[in-house]
Amino acid sequence: MSVRQMTQRATQDALRTDRSAATVFRIMDQAVQQTSHVKQPLPSSSRMACAAGCCFCCYQPVDITVPEALAMAAYLRSRLAEKDFDTLRTRLAATTATLRDLSYEAHAQAKIPCVLLVDGACSVYPARPFACRAWNSTSVARCQEIFEHGDPITMIPPIEMDVYETIWDVAQGLIDGLKQARLDSTSYELHSVLQRALDTPDAAQRWVQEEDVFAGCTVGAFAA
Ligand code: SF4
Repeated sequence: MSVRQMTQRATQDALRTDRSAATVFRIMDQAVQQTSHVKQPLPSSSRMACAAGCCFCCYQPVDITVPEALAMAAYLRSRLAEKDFDTLRTRLAATTATLRDLSYEAHAQAKIPCVLLVDGACSVYPARPFACRAWNSTSVARCQEIFEHGDPITMIPPIEMDVYETIWDVAQGLIDGLKQARLDSTSYELHSVLQRALDTPDAAQRWVQEEDVFAGCTVGAFAA
């Protein structure tokens, strides 16, 4: 059975037996565990250049599903002090408003940092989206060149395909499972859907009960 099929089945099975907020977070935990199926390269053969403090790719549009947004919102609620949480929500609202008027292409060119990028690092790293887990590079120099002088839509850095494809399969398996469970499987623009998740404390419970909690959020460029 493929990673995609395993993720789809685990998602579908969990949602079949329990439609609670806890299940939403369980299907995310299960999906994240599936990313361990990436073949671990030997240390001497690993070509991954990604490291803390390198964030050229955190200025690009990111598509995420509702469970990913809910998991990030829960992570932020559990970590941030009230003042920092309010500050994040204010910044998130401003960025969402700016992005609402931009096409995917304009967003990609605008060099707007992800609102979760703090001091050059991802502030939700353990709960980051699958798109961010999958994207990687074997050349910092190439990433810097694309960021500073290139076209981020048509130019991509050299990547470790095993990492990219395995995590992409997990993300697709999650979407397959949501579809089977007749839940919203749309990929939304990160800021838009995260803002709604943070503004709606009971969003997970309502969404898993098929309430259209995320109506009006910006649909991502790669939404099926
Ligand atoms: S969620 Fe984290 S890794 Fe993804 S773009 Fe934002 S800061 Fe970067």
